[in-house]
Amino acid sequence: MNPLKLLVLAVFFYIGWRLVRKSLFPNINNHAEPTVRSDNMDKVKDILVEDPVCHTFVPKKDAIRLRYEGRTYYFCSEACCDSFSVTVEENK
Ligand SMILES: [Zn+2]
Repeated sequence: MNPLKLLVLAVFFYIGWRLVRKSLFPNINNHAEPTVRSDNMDKVKDILVEDPVCHTFVPKKDAIRLRYEGRTYYFCSEACCDSFSVTVEENK
């Protein structure tokens, strides 16, 4: 048996296992977040969002949120959130 065939076989078994597991435990990836507070929370939890103050990318679920004029802004820390609030207040 050559290595390529082995690899194909391994991939085949891996996909097969994933399908079997999915049909046996359809909720395996959903139990971690039982409290969905806002719409699409479970879909967006791993999206990276940019902090408009220091331009760091942070996971949406860990970001500090601020609603301002109908938009939601995300920050890496309270300090960035505060500094953004000050900036928008000054620009009014
Ligand atoms: Zn920041």
